[in-house]
Amino acid sequence: MNVAHHSSWPNRMPKKLDYPQTPLHDLLATSARRFPDKPGVIYYGQVITYAQLWDQAQRLAGALAAMGLQKGDRVALYMQNCPHYLIGCFGVYAAGGVVAPLNPMLVERELYNIVGDSGARFIITTTELYGRVAPIAADLGVERVICGSLWDYMPENPAIPAPDFMAATPRAIDGAAAWLETLASAPGAPQVDIDIKADLAMLPYTAGSTGLPKGCMHTHATVMSNVWSAMYWTQLSSGANVLSCLPFFHVTGFVHSLAAPLAAGATLVMLTRWDREAALQAVEKYGVTHFVNITAMMADILSAKDIESRDLASLQMVGGGGAPLPVALGQRLKDLTGLDYVEGYGMTETISQTHFNPCDKVKLGSIGIPDFGVDARVIDIETLRELPAGQQGELVIHGPEIMLGYWNKPVETKEAFIELGGKRFLRTGDICRMDEEGYFFITDRLKRMINAAGFKVWPAEIEAVLYKHPHVLEACVISAPDAKRQETVKALIVAKPGCQPDPEEIMAWSRKEMSAYKAPRIVEIVAALPKSGAGKILWRQVQEQEMAKR
Ligand code: AMP
Repeated sequence: MNVAHHSSWPNRMPKKLDYPQTPLHDLLATSARRFPDKPGVIYYGQVITYAQLWDQAQRLAGALAAMGLQKGDRVALYMQNCPHYLIGCFGVYAAGGVVAPLNPMLVERELYNIVGDSGARFIITTTELYGRVAPIAADLGVERVICGSLWDYMPENPAIPAPDFMAATPRAIDGAAAWLETLASAPGAPQVDIDIKADLAMLPYTAGSTGLPKGCMHTHATVMSNVWSAMYWTQLSSGANVLSCLPFFHVTGFVHSLAAPLAAGATLVMLTRWDREAALQAVEKYGVTHFVNITAMMADILSAKDIESRDLASLQMVGGGGAPLPVALGQRLKDLTGLDYVEGYGMTETISQTHFNPCDKVKLGSIGIPDFGVDARVIDIETLRELPAGQQGELVIHGPEIMLGYWNKPVETKEAFIELGGKRFLRTGDICRMDEEGYFFITDRLKRMINAAGFKVWPAEIEAVLYKHPHVLEACVISAPDAKRQETVKALIVAKPGCQPDPEEIMAWSRKEMSAYKAPRIVEIVAALPKSGAGKILWRQVQEQEMAKR
């Protein structure tokens, strides 16, 4: 059943949303034309107007073109949330390049995998991460590393608490192509013709069952359709003050904390790193109206001891996705503010939401109804046939925000899609059911993924690293329930003969070998792991045994 035009959609919702048929940088150009002097960003008190943001993005485009960037070249952005990221994205688009966003937590081995796969010619980073990337840049085929400093836009006396690590963050790196100087000496932006449906704009990475990172090919049009409908779902307007706190490297952060607010001409109150007190002060000081977050941020903020006495009256929209919001948290938010938590759902493959709750008709515990133009269906996981409404199965999606496929991975691309009635549907690997009003509920997960506080961890990737540990004979990584992160990473290890691995040592070793959010927080040494006749470790059985203990 095609639920995109389901008869019980809330009455006031349009059935269709036309999005601009222009490249993405046009969003910033338009807001700069409409609101040149308006604060586009407030960074710890430092105001950057829309005119300044667009001017700097164009300068960056000019600088990149002068360095030899050609249409379609990839530029990796490796930094925490900061104004450079925003200017970097829109500058790369204006130069005809493709943004490859990198999680700032990535360690060297992971950088090799992702930057190497993307074939990025340029990297834009900041001084605190420069040391990780500069030594391997040449090896990775990267021609230029442009290096900003968080201090470029940070006021001497921040108006809200700045992150602690800033004190130790260098303001400049000798010999690096410095951000402000690069912009100051840049020639004008190049003229580039962009075919919005064919030309790539973004290559965000996700992992998967093989553990190898896969770049999701998003065009200007797939991203634009999503950004445009995100404005609608979250009811953004130029009067909004948005707490811009989701990590920009992740698709939901890019769409909801950056691009949709910019498209609306709103003000982004930008945080470099999540900090509860900074977030609360930002809400109070700048009258934040919109707060799109992940569950872990919501849990954190609601657990502040003085939350009852904080001034949250300016908030108009609070919501998010990436992981299910426990209903009790939604209730607590409602009691405190009178607001419903507006949950959505999406994947890197869909750039952000494919489902969202209408703000005026929220169902707690549901991911909402399909986005504009999204045809969402439920299939039987054995027969791959479509199921009637109300039955539980795998969610598959067809719509304007779906990626073209995985970068240079035709086999994985083919496996990711299924054909139904002549249309190509993305297999989500999530199990769901739809209620009689067309609202979807995620009930289980088919894919082998751990959702740790919204960070997606792919066990196959972790196991591949664990096998490099000198004492590890076999490893099986599963999800363990966790009060704070909802799920956490647990590794069961069989030791090599004669070795007596220490769980603490394996955990410390893992933290060096992979991004901190992926490293196992629980390690259990076991005598054996259950195996199939063919000798494959039966991870599902191990997972079920873990759940049975609770
Ligand atoms: P990512 O590609 O990192 O955005 O992760 C996408 C996955 O996150 C989905 O396939 C789901 O498993 C999970 N996810 C996203 N939003 C939700 C939600 N609201 N509730 C439950 N799981 C979610």
